[in-house]
Amino acid sequence: MLSSLPNGSRPVVLDVQDLRVHYATPRGDVIAVNGISFQVYQGETVGLVGESGCGKTTTAMAILRLVQPPGRIIGGRVLIEGTDLVPLTEKQLREMRWNKLALIPQGAMNSLNPVMRIKDQIGDAITTHEGKQPRDVLKGRILELLNQVGLPARVYNMYPHELSGGMKQRVCVAMAIALNPPLIIADEPTSALDVVVQRVVAQTLLDVKQRLGVSMILIGHDMGLQAQLVDRIIVMYAGNIVEIAPVREAFKNPLHPYTQLLIASIPSIKERKPLKVTEGLTHDLRNPPPGCVFQFRCPYAREICRSLRPQLKAYGVEHFTACHIYENPMLYENSAPIATATRPATPGALYASDLMKEVDPHAGAAA
Ligand code: SF4
Repeated sequence: MLSSLPNGSRPVVLDVQDLRVHYATPRGDVIAVNGISFQVYQGETVGLVGESGCGKTTTAMAILRLVQPPGRIIGGRVLIEGTDLVPLTEKQLREMRWNKLALIPQGAMNSLNPVMRIKDQIGDAITTHEGKQPRDVLKGRILELLNQVGLPARVYNMYPHELSGGMKQRVCVAMAIALNPPLIIADEPTSALDVVVQRVVAQTLLDVKQRLGVSMILIGHDMGLQAQLVDRIIVMYAGNIVEIAPVREAFKNPLHPYTQLLIASIPSIKERKPLKVTEGLTHDLRNPPPGCVFQFRCPYAREICRSLRPQLKAYGVEHFTACHIYENPMLYENSAPIATATRPATPGALYASDLMKEVDPHAGAAA
């Protein structure tokens, strides 16, 4: 369904179908990713947004088959250019990673080996997958990669500690594009950088995308950065996709109440206004309630939202959301309003961000 609109005429690079990821805890399975489906098209950048614990980093790790125990993929398919990664062996996966999809992880600049020169780190990424090559050919490729991410040739011989944070981050971008993969996943690529350097790294990603035509998934919670970099936004809440829209449309006409709150919470330097906060808490992730996943925090929740789960449906060109306001307008209007933050008190319940930090090694400050 999601590919049946205009973007559907472009080749699909990534096709995620009904992906489910659970984390085992002593208190029961946490449903971290709850049957999500989406596509990424050739040459487009998709933003995966939501607050801590919403499942966006877990989704990225599942796409790369890097979910660590106690997490596990319990269902779904992840097709990269038609090949499903879920049933592949570790050896087959190693061949796919870097070649077909590359990761720029959270805090990527800290993943560089401090005792290896940049030329050796990028060279290793190339020769591990392509085998040994003549020294001058390899050097030429590495210098070209540095040039593509806006780094001077002298970086070739340097160690990571001789580079600034932004330069190290661009080295990680160079490594990600070394084998020309059709898809790059960048997890919070500008976190821990100051605002000026953030812009440089963001511009590098834009340049790479435009020059190489690579597809990207950009994970983040900085809606301002997403607005600058992505073509479409996917909004996740408690392991579910609640809205997908072209980025301009998402900011101009957000449909889902959660997306509206995310956008309203962006601080403005032009206008002094109180920051909007999304009140209430998510549900116990081991026991999703019947009905809408956002019901306990939604300012527009009605009785129907407690009993009937809204489905992700199209309400415009490439614009999808899961909300009864649009799916069942008559039923919604005739249903009694309910107060927000009326989640039933459940002794010992586990909630989103604190729980995700407990079980998800990837759930850092912005997972
Ligand atoms: Fe809010 Fe109901 Fe829409 Fe969920 S379905 S987002 S609770 S109005």
